[in-house]
Amino acid sequence: MFTQLQSNTPPPKEGDLFKVIHLHGRTFEIRYGFYEECDRNNQFAEPMEIYPDFIRCPQHTFEGRPFVTAIQSPCDHFAGSKDDNSTCEECAHYRHGEELLGICACPQNQKDLEIAQGG
Ligand code: SF4
Repeated sequence: MFTQLQSNTPPPKEGDLFKVIHLHGRTFEIRYGFYEECDRNNQFAEPMEIYPDFIRCPQHTFEGRPFVTAIQSPCDHFAGSKDDNSTCEECAHYRHGEELLGICACPQNQKDLEIAQGG
């Protein structure tokens, strides 16, 4: 028999700060929330860490490398053996940063430096 340890820390609420991540010259504020509206309305769903949607809103390092998340749907340049559940994390071009944030080292996805610095 074992005793389950109980934490006195209250569960995170939507909008609470999970972590500030500094990566390749950029700062990302990761907060708790919901990816889907149906989760927000589900009384049993708890807020989770929300990472940027880099597919919808691409961001790049100053060298023009795209930021990606480990859980992101792979692009056409995925390197490795891919199935329906594959994510960027399984791609040979994925470079882990911190938590679920990383960058893509695929040469075909690198932007020109001038363009990357503009946005
Ligand atoms: S090439 Fe880059 S963006 Fe494409 S799947 Fe691999 S890590 Fe993700």
